[in-house]
Amino acid sequence: MNRIDAILQQKSVRITPMRQLVLKHFLQEDAVLGLNELEETFQKSDRITIYRTLKTFEEKGIIHSIQNGVSEVKYALCKEHCEEQHHIDRHPHFHCLVCGSIECLESVLLPPTILPQGYSASEIKMNIKGRCKKCQG
Ligand SMILES: [Zn+2]
Ligand SMILES: [Zn+2]
Ligand SMILES: [Zn+2]
Repeated sequence: MNRIDAILQQKSVRITPMRQLVLKHFLQEDAVLGLNELEETFQKSDRITIYRTLKTFEEKGIIHSIQNGVSEVKYALCKEHCEEQHHIDRHPHFHCLVCGSIECLESVLLPPTILPQGYSASEIKMNIKGRCKKCQG
């Protein structure tokens, strides 16, 4: 079985051609992608289908969403530990105020959040805004 199908199966996502294509694209690009970029890549597919695919992937812990409140929502691949109902991506997202790039800072691990008794987290997100490596100086 190829890697794409193996991931879909592991995350209990039914395999469809669209899902295979979108996942393959995320793996190939290894980048933060938004609906607009994907729509340009898959011009033959309609926006709703791509959007639904992203939502399914997000629900099942294949990708996580990144929001900065300004531009469209972006998505990036999750690490293998993510699954449905347990979707904790413990790294911050960096938004560059100069070039507008968005990155997953996976080398920066957020400390575990200790919640008061009786609370449980299903999602934890941290955004950092500033100047990226390329835009320094
Ligand atoms: Zn995740
Ligand atoms: Zn930058
Ligand atoms: Zn991320």
